[in-house]
Amino acid sequence: MPDLRHTDIQYLHGVGPKRAELLKKELGISSYYDLLYYFPFRYIDRSVINHVNELYGDEAAVQLKGRFLMFTTAGEGRRRRLQALFTDGTGTIEVVWFNRVASIQKTYNTTTQYILFGKPSMYNGHLNIVHPEVDLSSAEAVTQGLQGVYNLTEVLRNRQFTSRAIHKLVVNLLNTPGVQHIDETLPPELMQRYHLMPLAEALRNIHLPADQQSLLRAQFRLKFEELFFLELNILHYIKGSSRRLVGHKFERVGYYFNNFYHNFLQFPLTGAQKRVIREMRHDMGSGKQMNRLLQGDVGSGKTIVAFMTALIAIDNGYQACIMAPTEILAGQHLETIQPLGEALGVKVALLTGSTRKKQRTAIHESLMSGELQILIGTHALIEDTVQFHNLGLAIIDEQHRFGVAQRARLWSKNRVAPPHVLVMTATPIPRTLAMTVYGDLDVSVIDELPPGRKPVTTVLRHEPDRFNMYKFVGSQLKQGRQAYIVYPLIEENEKLDLHALEMGYEQVCDVFPHYNVAMVHGRMKPAEKDHQMMLFASGKAHILVATTVIEVGVNVPNASVMVIEDAERFGLSQLHQLRGRVGRGADQSYCILMARSDLGRDTRHRLQVMTQTNDGFVVAEEDMKLRGPGDMEGTQQSGIAFNLHIANLAQDGQIIQMARNAAEDYLRDDPQMETPWGRKMAAHIRDIFDKQTNWGLIS
Ligand code: ADP
Ligand code: MG
Repeated sequence: MPDLRHTDIQYLHGVGPKRAELLKKELGISSYYDLLYYFPFRYIDRSVINHVNELYGDEAAVQLKGRFLMFTTAGEGRRRRLQALFTDGTGTIEVVWFNRVASIQKTYNTTTQYILFGKPSMYNGHLNIVHPEVDLSSAEAVTQGLQGVYNLTEVLRNRQFTSRAIHKLVVNLLNTPGVQHIDETLPPELMQRYHLMPLAEALRNIHLPADQQSLLRAQFRLKFEELFFLELNILHYIKGSSRRLVGHKFERVGYYFNNFYHNFLQFPLTGAQKRVIREMRHDMGSGKQMNRLLQGDVGSGKTIVAFMTALIAIDNGYQACIMAPTEILAGQHLETIQPLGEALGVKVALLTGSTRKKQRTAIHESLMSGELQILIGTHALIEDTVQFHNLGLAIIDEQHRFGVAQRARLWSKNRVAPPHVLVMTATPIPRTLAMTVYGDLDVSVIDELPPGRKPVTTVLRHEPDRFNMYKFVGSQLKQGRQAYIVYPLIEENEKLDLHALEMGYEQVCDVFPHYNVAMVHGRMKPAEKDHQMMLFASGKAHILVATTVIEVGVNVPNASVMVIEDAERFGLSQLHQLRGRVGRGADQSYCILMARSDLGRDTRHRLQVMTQTNDGFVVAEEDMKLRGPGDMEGTQQSGIAFNLHIANLAQDGQIIQMARNAAEDYLRDDPQMETPWGRKMAAHIRDIFDKQTNWGLIS
């Protein structure tokens, strides 16, 4: 059998040096193995024929049967194109080609029946298809059932390197002697227990499905394998007991914690808060370093949990620090925590980039002496000059702004052993994803809001409703409440966005002449931004016109309404984060999503999810289904490369769970991976993961 990994793709029948170069450059396929694992990203049932009059123009791909009515050319020079009208009897659709105009015009005629295959779209109010595949309707290829579709790049497409061309190469590869007998990678017990299709058979069926059933089994087998090795890697190498770091042992819950709990806590903790505090107490008392992710929806009460966890550290003679992504947030933490600390006799201080030199020096000194017990701050905390006497716990709020590397720097702040680490996030990530994405973290969830919270009422409105929307906002202001009006982040289209924001600001000033309006956006100087935020936070400004800079953590309980302009431009999780800024008091709050009237189906669905649920986990699940996990906040920095061939962390939750269980079971029997199968799999894991991931255990 050829060594798949090391046989250059150029030697495959039908490739050669030129095409090999293209494949390498465009798709990263340089060996037989790479091609074998270049799976179709979807399948089309070529036995289904669609009808023109049923198309919306947002289908992924359709197959139409009919004939061309006429051909015309348009445009000059590089813009020259061939246009045709195609009918299937139910309606007509325009077909466009931008190159090879002359040869295409010669190939097709208006009398023959063809099958068109391609992606329709809506252009200037009518349907068209650009560069479809065209077959004679009598051709047998057309009715063969499931056909894989391969991802291509624009360059490949321009070189006539179609999905079908890849398909042909795969067929050649599968017919190469020896490839049919590719080695099994999973131990027989596993194959049996999970009823897995053998690898060779799965690889054939993933490319050339015999039928729907075989395709499903092939997909299951390959996803399972991929996730199994991923989990095995995480469990063995990342979390494996041998690599788990020794940590400070916090054995007691003492004076500070108990005094606070019994005498100063202003409300009963929710069940979920109690549970996660217990989980952390257990971790920190275990003698191993805690690495925990605390997820809790906005307003679920993470701050108090963080504070009480810090008290456990202090009870054991250690210091704690709390790191926030912005000065505003760090300041808000100080405001919450300092009075609590004072009541208990715990010394708390704030350190940010704008802390004055004199005060900074004083903080450094009291940190070194151990007198200062809780330090709150921004990135300034991880500067080299900051030295703790005995840092036992590092809490990182709104984690997605901090990368793994930054976490690592915190770890070095205690020379004896790294501090326990608690990472808090309000971006809910489905559990299966979290345990995989944050392979090195344990996960706690606060899945319960404090009692008495009213869910935010969310509605979807369009331009014609603008007057009524303002009227409604006005009625809230009249009751003494405050309002946010949010615009998309000023970014790619900087000028336009800034213009929209400023126009919006002026309009709001005109509509509400008797109220004060503040404005913040990311292009402002930090000092100006802070000033504007303060105006709103203090109640001096009644309305805040802002871009998404307000997304994270800002707490103004008197704000009861949020209007989100151009809501269709926001991601779901982002909308949810924004919405979390209101509904922080006891009164009813509102979120009004302003969007274009002519929304596509997906976009409308997305916005409707917001109007139907307040549950951050439901929103996150939906968001992931729509966008894929690679785009989820937090995933890029999490340390796991998302180089999965086939498994989808968003959609394959059940398989992740199974793979996780299988990996745990396996390691119970072969913890050091030293049996023949263990060694074989360890080598395989090195092959797949070493290239892409630098797990580099942070120490
Ligand atoms: P987040 O999880 O978004 O950081 P916070 O910690 O800011 O949430 O808490 C939001 C609000 O809820 C705060 O005003 C806090 O005092 C309050 N809170 C927290 N826990 C409880 C509880 N168990 N009962 C009542 N109110 C609570
Ligand atoms: Mg918070």
